[in-house]
Amino acid sequence: MAPRTVLFVVFLIFFYFQGQLLQVQALANRFDLDFSYMKSVKNATDMPSEEEYDYIVIGGGTAGCPLAATLSEEHSVLVLERGGAPETQPNVLSVDGFVANLMQEDDGKTPAQRFTSEDGVANVRGRVLGGSSMINAGFYSRADNEFLSKSGVDWDMNAVEKAYQWVEETIVFDQSSLAVWQSAIKEALVEAGVIPDNGFRLDHVVGTKVSGSIFDGVGKRHGAVELLNGGNLRNLRVALHAVVEKIIFSTVSSSRPTRMVKGGGYCARVWNSPMERAVHVKRACAWEEAGDSWGPQI
Ligand SMILES: Cc1cc2nc3c(=O)[nH]c(=O)nc-3n(C[C@H](O)[C@H](O)[C@H](O)COP(=O)(O)OP(=O)(O)OC[C@H]3O[C@@H](n4cnc5c(N)ncnc54)[C@H](O)[C@@H]3O)c2cc1C
Repeated sequence: MAPRTVLFVVFLIFFYFQGQLLQVQALANRFDLDFSYMKSVKNATDMPSEEEYDYIVIGGGTAGCPLAATLSEEHSVLVLERGGAPETQPNVLSVDGFVANLMQEDDGKTPAQRFTSEDGVANVRGRVLGGSSMINAGFYSRADNEFLSKSGVDWDMNAVEKAYQWVEETIVFDQSSLAVWQSAIKEALVEAGVIPDNGFRLDHVVGTKVSGSIFDGVGKRHGAVELLNGGNLRNLRVALHAVVEKIIFSTVSSSRPTRMVKGGGYCARVWNSPMERAVHVKRACAWEEAGDSWGPQI
């Protein structure tokens, strides 16, 4: 083999393994659940009667948690989540609880809320901090590039790439060693012509692939809630058992915060936003006694 060819092959091998190494390094590799976000979490009933935030995120779910964490880097953020804390719901924290969660009778407080879609299909959705990422099957894949290009959004692809990397380093694990039933499904798909067999890949590709999982190697679930830890927890407040029932938009602007009255509900306000906004939240235990009136008024 000519020296140049040898050099080329050596480079090729180096880059191949470097690529493999980078992919492995880019995934999460710890096995402890990280509850640091709990420093920012309170029950809605324990919140002060009057507060101001730059942003209020309604729903601390799969999308809400990373959004709130990102905003909290430079702004004060309130997350209003109707469900409770994951640590009070052991079934959402491990793969062993997956089926039990879905089978549980819905008592209005369970982490999986049963509902029927408009086209009549029985389904469930998350009702816990971390949202449906705390009850789902944990399969992780990057989005289809075609979806991004056709979405009508002018994506900053560098920011998209960074976001993928953040999520993958924090809560996505390499689950490429498959259980017997998983291997059987994968082989069946390939045999049925869903090809090529792409092996382990995080990106969206045509064919069959093994992708990442938010379950780690010992079966613990690392839901989107752990992405809150990536924010500035000093800027972040999460109110639990806070069911948002109404958002009031007003065109009246004011140079100082409008007074908010503590009543049957909790009222949070976005300060100095272009349009005055207020959010009425049903406080878990106090609302019913307060009757049907929108307790706190601005
Ligand atoms: C059984 C199951 C398995 C799945 N498996 C996978 C999978 O393997 N891979 C995958 O990618 N996807 C899977 N999905 C889908 C995926 O989990 C969801 O698409 C995704 O989590 C939705 O994210 P979201 O942020 O839109 O909503 P959610 O994560 O559901 O978050 C919404 C949040 O808002 C809160 N909320 C709702 N209403 C109010 C209110 N009025 N006031 C205050 N808070 C409120 C909820 O409690 C919840 O926390 C699965 C879903 C289910 C149900």
